[in-house]
Amino acid sequence: MTGALAPTKPLTVADRCDRCGAQAYVRAVLVGGGDLLFCAHHGRRYAEALRSTGADIQDESARLTETRATAPDDER
Ligand SMILES: [Zn+2]
Repeated sequence: MTGALAPTKPLTVADRCDRCGAQAYVRAVLVGGGDLLFCAHHGRRYAEALRSTGADIQDESARLTETRATAPDDER
């Protein structure tokens, strides 16, 4: 489900959790314009609270179970 916000680039292996430094799978775009990155673990831990403040949560943790080499390019 996509919102009306400008599209953001997918998270990459270079994106790291702000809390523990693991690979980030969740991006929280704050109302004020900044964003936070979380690993799957911390994403689950903080996403609900952040969403309650109006932040836009982009959860890509589902990609954890996908086969990276053959990921379909069905978003464009
Ligand atoms: Zn983390």
